[in-house]
Amino acid sequence: MLAIPKIRKIVLRNEHVRMMLEEVHRVYPQEACGVILGQFEPDIARAQEVVFTRNAADSSVRFVVDAEELYRILVRAEDEGKDMVGIFHSHPTTAVPSGVDQPFMEINPVVWVILGTLSEKIDISAYQWFDNAIYPVEIVIENLEEDIGK
Ligand SMILES: [Zn+2]
Repeated sequence: MLAIPKIRKIVLRNEHVRMMLEEVHRVYPQEACGVILGQFEPDIARAQEVVFTRNAADSSVRFVVDAEELYRILVRAEDEGKDMVGIFHSHPTTAVPSGVDQPFMEINPVVWVILGTLSEKIDISAYQWFDNAIYPVEIVIENLEEDIGK
């Protein structure tokens, strides 16, 4: 795809956040990871689907989205007319990009959604690398669970 614009906000559905929390608990203490598929319109990233992948780094302090899984996901996404609008991962600490994340954010300047697991409360934030800096991206959570029949 073409260069990704500066994204002002990412719209997630309630169920996406619930699935992220479930995945984080499932793989704990490893970092959970996955990709967020949807549409850019044009300074908003609208999530349609979150697809979790294996953490190929097998680590509690960093993550690597499994390359083969990512390839399959991106081929399917293209068939379905979806873009990879975001990358999701969890932190054993807070939902702030780490020094390890920064170079990968630069290579993949989509919206990075991070879920911190240190707090009892839901700690979720989004960021984007743009123009040589990390910018916060507002997260809007829409409740569409009823609409999809759940
Ligand atoms: Zn990280």
